Amino acid sequence: MPKKKQNYIIYKRKGSISLITLNRPEYSNAQNGAMTYQLDDAFRKAMDDEKVKVIVLKGAGKHFCAGHDIGTPDRDLDKSYDLKSMWYDHTKKEGGEFYYAREQEVYLGMCRRWRDIPKPTIAMVHGACIAAGLALAWVCDLIIASEESFFSDPTLKMGLPGIEYFGHPFELNPRIAKEFLFLGERMSAARAYQMGMLNKVVSLDNLEKETMKIAEKLTDIPSLAVTLTKQSINHIEDLQGHRVGMDATFGYHHFAHTHNELVEGEYLAGYNAKKLERRSEAQEKNKKKKRNKKKKS
Ligand code: ZN
Repeated sequence: MPKKKQNYIIYKRKGSISLITLNRPEYSNAQNGAMTYQLDDAFRKAMDDEKVKVIVLKGAGKHFCAGHDIGTPDRDLDKSYDLKSMWYDHTKKEGGEFYYAREQEVYLGMCRRWRDIPKPTIAMVHGACIAAGLALAWVCDLIIASEESFFSDPTLKMGLPGIEYFGHPFELNPRIAKEFLFLGERMSAARAYQMGMLNKVVSLDNLEKETMKIAEKLTDIPSLAVTLTKQSINHIEDLQGHRVGMDATFGYHHFAHTHNELVEGEYLAGYNAKKLERRSEAQEKNKKKKRNKKKKS
């Protein structure tokens, strides 16, 4: 019997604001293929609805998004979907081409299209925003985060030079981007704000209220003016190397996937979500130990 379609995305409209919720809370909203395609459909719906002036993207449960699905039972890397770009189906391909075609379509292609959506978008971030979770926040025009939220890209541990949507040197300054990637540690909302990655940090209790307040303000601006401003700024970012830089780093990223496959026998160097989680828990414990030691001495 075919599996019932899961609703990995919740779509709602409140007046002129569309609220799109990532809805896999049991897996910290890890992005499997099904969720990604449903998210694309949700953005399409918001585009097609004349009444929608602003789009807010949020996560259900404790976290905004823990990144790509690298180990839940509904991981669907091998599944075909109706392609949104002019790429071919990866499932018929082998070796590096399998990952290259899929990530062109899903991880790079879709994120780029979402970034250029001609309506203003706001990411409302709470809890963890990890790896490809960053891409979902970064493709939005504004990012409002809660005080306890944190950001990290631990992909170097998988032998990869960052996530596919390589926005780091634009979201942070290059030196901080290096620190962020090399160490793969959590960056607090306070520091991310200080570094210019976030527009506003508020308490978790006020997150939705504050985000909607800003979204409401955007609904009052003539929509074409907002669209053209967004296009201008995105275009200038592209002239500064956002697009071509990402193309180049996407090539490095796939060289790394293939190297992993050759040397480690697995394109993520054998890392899965659990292994990463254990590692980051161990790091947090070590940090706590060190802090306690300092307090005592
Ligand atoms: Zn990849």
